[in-house]
Amino acid sequence: MTPSPRVDVDSRRIIEAEEQHVAHNYHPLPVVIAEGEGVWVTDAEGKRYLDLLSAYSALNFGHGHPALLAAARAQLDRLTLTSRAYHNDRLGPFAAALAELCGKDLVLPMNTGAEAVETGIKVARAWGYRVKGIPEGQATIIVADGNFHGRTTTIVGFSDDPQAREGFGPFTPGFVHVPFGDAAAIEAAITPHTAAVLIEPIQGEAGVVIPPDGYLRAVREITARENVLFIADEIQSGLGRVGTTFACDREGVVPDVYLLGKALGGGILPLSAVVADADVLGVIRPGEHGSTFGGNPLASAVGTKVVELLASGDLQKRAAALGEHLEARLAELVGHGVTAVRVAGLWAGVDIDRAVGTGRQVAEQLLARGVLVKDTHGQTIRIAPPLVVRATELDWAIEQLKVVLAD
Ligand SMILES: *Cc1c(COP(=O)(O)O)cnc(C)c1O
Repeated sequence: MTPSPRVDVDSRRIIEAEEQHVAHNYHPLPVVIAEGEGVWVTDAEGKRYLDLLSAYSALNFGHGHPALLAAARAQLDRLTLTSRAYHNDRLGPFAAALAELCGKDLVLPMNTGAEAVETGIKVARAWGYRVKGIPEGQATIIVADGNFHGRTTTIVGFSDDPQAREGFGPFTPGFVHVPFGDAAAIEAAITPHTAAVLIEPIQGEAGVVIPPDGYLRAVREITARENVLFIADEIQSGLGRVGTTFACDREGVVPDVYLLGKALGGGILPLSAVVADADVLGVIRPGEHGSTFGGNPLASAVGTKVVELLASGDLQKRAAALGEHLEARLAELVGHGVTAVRVAGLWAGVDIDRAVGTGRQVAEQLLARGVLVKDTHGQTIRIAPPLVVRATELDWAIEQLKVVLAD
């Protein structure tokens, strides 16, 4: 493969300033993005790129969606932050709309995805003690191998990725691992102390790993029978990405708890939520949990518009139809520099043949050809365009990928 793309002197200077003053917790591709509109971004030198990452699905509606920007702008001029010490006139309508979208009673608003996961863990434990009757301090939560739920100390403690864990212990106890996609393993791992099963319906960071058909239905059936909460981390898989509102919808399954984030903030600000019925989320009492920014009026105004954009189902249908197109086009690549593809709606994991190069190298070559993707776990690239992408744009991006693979 040819060397990494070069950036001009000004961009080099911007990158160097970042490298000098920003902690090195990421290894970004060498491009300095300055503007974005819809599916396209422009770098500091004026070069355009098709965004096939969408900030890990936080930009499901694309960059600068007019209705979302309008909602944010209007709210900026009225009121931005109150804290939950008082009511604000935006949180209630947002929670009502989101609860309706999810078919649940209650919403607990937070900011980042990791906070939603942490909140879900607290809710599960409190439910385990106060409703199920697990002895205090004994509750366990079953999680899947290969999971990604965020970066806090508790969450990395139940990751099995050494890069996420090593150097950050000691870890929070109370988590039990089972293989992803194996419902019988969940059933075997359940004890009277199990409060919840926490899984991603499709594992995103692991490389868009889709469980066998029937897995989510089996998890639902087992957890219901055993009086264990089913918590679905839909932070990346939810809100239209897979061609349905939630990835759980693919199997007609409703979990006890939805964890939402990323696209919920419309690509404008961080907004996450735990959504469940009152018999579950109602266990949290005043003073037991909170967040200074959670439920702020600015985020609530944007979140309300996000829910409105999803309520008609049009975007989900679009993602489903385009996803079939994407799947057909990507299937052509298998055996031609690609060893496997996994596609769910507008979300794809593409495994690159080692003979061609690493996922990172392919991402760098695509960057040079005007396409943004991100590698994960060495050999995989992840494709997750904004759901407003056009079929012709997807075709063009796949042509670029074909050229890169053939080089
Ligand atoms: C991104 C992600 C998170 C964490 O979200 P942050 O906003 O980065 O904290 C949690 N779970 C899943 C499935 C994710 O993809």
